[in-house]
Amino acid sequence: MKIKHEVINKAILECKECRLCESRTKVVPGEGHPFAELMFIGEAPGKEEDESGSPFVGRSGALLSKLILGLGLGRGQVFITNIVKCRPPGNRMPELEEVTACKKYLDQQIKSIDPKIIVLMGNVALFSCLKRSGVGTWRGNFFNEQDGRTYFVTCHPAAALHAGGWMKALSEDFKTLGAKIEQMRKKK
Ligand code: URA
Ligand code: SF4
Repeated sequence: MKIKHEVINKAILECKECRLCESRTKVVPGEGHPFAELMFIGEAPGKEEDESGSPFVGRSGALLSKLILGLGLGRGQVFITNIVKCRPPGNRMPELEEVTACKKYLDQQIKSIDPKIIVLMGNVALFSCLKRSGVGTWRGNFFNEQDGRTYFVTCHPAAALHAGGWMKALSEDFKTLGAKIEQMRKKK
């Protein structure tokens, strides 16, 4: 069933279904256009996100915003969220239990937004949504899944910010994504 954006948001903001609710400052449901054609999914809120309640507002967020601008879009035209909506203490990886508890919200968001392309950024998003491991293997590729949706895999912006990291891969992948968007626009 398709649930309205505002209803999903309210449920997420009030959620206490896993232990991450105990250490969070603010819940970070996600932000952007309620009917965006492009949806970006990261891992979990970090410190800045936990303090502000907005996704990708720290260093990774600045990079993501720049990459989205490069697609000719603004943050308000896409939807940005994470696999888990509350910050894991010390930025540890979310545990399976937490991912499982939170996954229903992401599923509801996907149904409600009904995006044309879902961009999975990093291993946690890749594994949670497609049950595949190894961003290095799958990045740069589109997957038409059984749920009738198209997913695109890339690395996490934070991984691109580490020295010797994935910056080249990430910018290559955004070029691939940009070309696909261009193609979709022409078909309209
Ligand atoms: N990293 C993420 O995965 N998500 C955010 O919102 C910020 C940093
Ligand atoms: Fe609820 Fe998700 Fe936050 Fe856990 S991480 S408390 S499931 S919103």
